[in-house]
Amino acid sequence: MAEPSSNAVLSQVGNTPLVNLNFLFDLPENGPTFLGKLEYLNPGGSIKDRAALYMIEDAEKRGLLRPGGTIIEASSGNQGIALAMIGALKGYKVIITVPKHTSSEKVATLRAYGAEVHVCRDTDTLEHPESYHSVARGIFEKHANAFMPNQYFNTKNPEAHYRTTGPELWKQIEGKMTHFISGMGSCGTISGIAQYLKEQNPKITVHGVDSANSLLSSDEPKSYETEGIGVDVISENLRRDLIDEIHPVEDRDAFQTARRIAHKGLLLGPSSGAVLHVAHNLLSQLTSSDIAVCILADSGRAYLGKVFSNNALFRNDEEVALFEKSVVNG
Ligand code: PMP
Repeated sequence: MAEPSSNAVLSQVGNTPLVNLNFLFDLPENGPTFLGKLEYLNPGGSIKDRAALYMIEDAEKRGLLRPGGTIIEASSGNQGIALAMIGALKGYKVIITVPKHTSSEKVATLRAYGAEVHVCRDTDTLEHPESYHSVARGIFEKHANAFMPNQYFNTKNPEAHYRTTGPELWKQIEGKMTHFISGMGSCGTISGIAQYLKEQNPKITVHGVDSANSLLSSDEPKSYETEGIGVDVISENLRRDLIDEIHPVEDRDAFQTARRIAHKGLLLGPSSGAVLHVAHNLLSQLTSSDIAVCILADSGRAYLGKVFSNNALFRNDEEVALFEKSVVNG
């Protein structure tokens, strides 16, 4: 018998393809192997479908979210989009706060799913009373029958990846991975997957990709444009002990790599651009038998007006010309 209709969509979360990325780097035949986990093929368009669904179903089981309830969350976009989709499928009202730097496509997507969106000021810290985190908390405190997944502190976020993405990857690659490269935002992805991988083989090296301007990677944190990554909340979901190296990446490098990769046929978001920038930098350290898995968290379609538009990225024609030349020459 067919599943109830909303479950039929939600059962498609996960089990994303793992594809060879060597064509992106023009690697020699005997070079290392890079594989990409195409997380933008989840129904809501990003890796965040996994943790959002896991946290919502956990809240339902524990009676924290009841029929007619409201889901409230602070999200730079994809977690919110996943929650908006799940809320629409399961019949919950959804309220999302986003920082101002969130792409207009993402805000429009949230609204298209029927979510109520509050666009908040870009602030240098999340403790600021006008930050999107503070605003979400304020809305939550005034709301009856509401559930806030609170991805930064909810341990079900990494657990989702420990129980699903980690084992899925391991099976796909038949245990042959040597390096794992992932963006870091709430750190659910990297901590959950790394925990599973290191339990299977402690020799796998885990590389975290952060924004160069985040609280974790900068002495003077400031707002940045690379959406999805950037560790600005340090909680137990950041398993520093499982991450061998953290690579801070500038917006410019993340954007530039995303654009270069699009010219090669993979349209990815800037966090994937940052991950592939790091992958490329690691090339010289890898041997021909190494296999590096990269998490490609979302698609470039959500950033057409930002990452893929010259107006948004460059200050003048000279910068545009320099960039176009670098895309062509690699
Ligand atoms: N990339 C993108 C595009 C994302 O939306 C997120 C989620 N913030 C991440 C990477 C990082 O994932 P996580 O929150 O699990 O660290």
